[in-house]
Amino acid sequence: MPSRYADCHIHSTLCGHAKHTLPEMLEGIRVSGLHAAVFTEHLPLPEEVDPNREVSMRFSDLDPYVVTLKETAERFDSLRNKGEDVPHLIIGAEADWLNQDPAWSKRSVAKAREAGVDVILGSVHMLDGWAFDDPAQVDEWDRQETETVWDFYFTEWIKTVKSGVYDVMAHPDLPKKFNFIPADPREYYFEAAAAIAEAGILCEVSTGGLRKPCKDLYPSQSFLDELVRRDVGLTLGSDAHSVPEIGYGFDYAAEQLLKAGVIHQSLPTGPVHEGKVELLPL
Ligand SMILES: [Zn+2]
Ligand SMILES: [Zn+2]
Repeated sequence: MPSRYADCHIHSTLCGHAKHTLPEMLEGIRVSGLHAAVFTEHLPLPEEVDPNREVSMRFSDLDPYVVTLKETAERFDSLRNKGEDVPHLIIGAEADWLNQDPAWSKRSVAKAREAGVDVILGSVHMLDGWAFDDPAQVDEWDRQETETVWDFYFTEWIKTVKSGVYDVMAHPDLPKKFNFIPADPREYYFEAAAAIAEAGILCEVSTGGLRKPCKDLYPSQSFLDELVRRDVGLTLGSDAHSVPEIGYGFDYAAEQLLKAGVIHQSLPTGPVHEGKVELLPL
């Protein structure tokens, strides 16, 4: 039976830290049985932020990336028209919010849209240049107050939401990745949910966290409840960096969403502010 899910967060080796190449990942999507997939490679970062190209694609990769996805989407469409069970492919990208240079962050999204990217994920992975979710930089957590980091993160997360240039906020409570979690994080969740509801963009339910030390969905249960209470549209994303991770844990995520009272997954097919969102039953 074809899957009813859309995986809205997928990478390839173009970003410097994935296992499979773009053609390999696209072939994985073709045979996945998914209803749809949004490919979301990491957009280029300034040279000084990613000098060795370990977390982002090169500037010169952006146009060929979009062309490859466009051609593949057309190929998938024609296969589907011949009766094959092939997903819809949507051209996306994941964009970092750089708190030290918000103007740069917004310009990079504008460039991606100009190049033909339809859906942009907003992510906060770095605070003053510290990649707090990088296993190689996890020691820094021992030198920081957990609450100070969470304050900083959610302050920037809310600025990202309000910037108006993103369609979906990815892995919303990423700072819990290594289990550095304040005693009561509910206030962060409350304010974050209020901000994203007001902005009218989507929030990702990421199964990436299930594969990480926190062993939990991003967002956690109490954050999810706040988002649901405010009627925020929710996507499903695996954050796949290898073929087996495509659609990872979606039955579990769907079960959690249904328990929380959510009966549809949102699928962005273009800018969310233009209403380009489909609802897929869970
Ligand atoms: Zn990545
Ligand atoms: Zn990602």
